[in-house]
This record gives sequence, C-alpha cells and structure tokens, in this order.
Amino acid sequence: MQNTCAECDRLWDEYTQAKTAHLTVIVQHHKAVVQKDSAVVDAIAPLKYDLAQRELKARRAISEHEAAHEPL
Ligand SMILES: [Zn+2]
Repeated sequence: MQNTCAECDRLWDEYTQAKTAHLTVIVQHHKAVVQKDSAVVDAIAPLKYDLAQRELKARRAISEHEAAHEPL
C-alpha cells in the first residue's frame, strides 16, 4: 500500500486522530461505568457518540476518495 496523494495523507491523518480520540473516550467511559460514576457517564455519552460519528465519517471519506482514485 502506497500513499503518494496529499488528500489520502490528510484523510488518513483525520481518521487516525478521530480513532484515537474515540478510543480515549471509550476508555474513560468504561472507567466511569466501572466506578459507577453516573455523572461522568452522562457527560461522556454525547461525546462518545460524536466521536463515533466522526470516526465513521472519516472512514467513509477514505473509502469514497479511494474509490474515486486513479489507479497508481
Ligand atoms: Zn488520494
């Protein structure tokens, strides 16, 4: 797999950031659930949802971009 396209690089970078942020929130959410800290669980839930959406969108953007790509 060879990325020589600036847009590919940008999209992968966005996806990596979204995935990392999502994972961080998943861990925080899990900890709060284990500690039965419902205030934190409630506060994190919308953030977790947003980041899941962001990750999905970033993943989809990569698929769409790659589908439109000229063969290397
Ligand atoms: Zn590309």
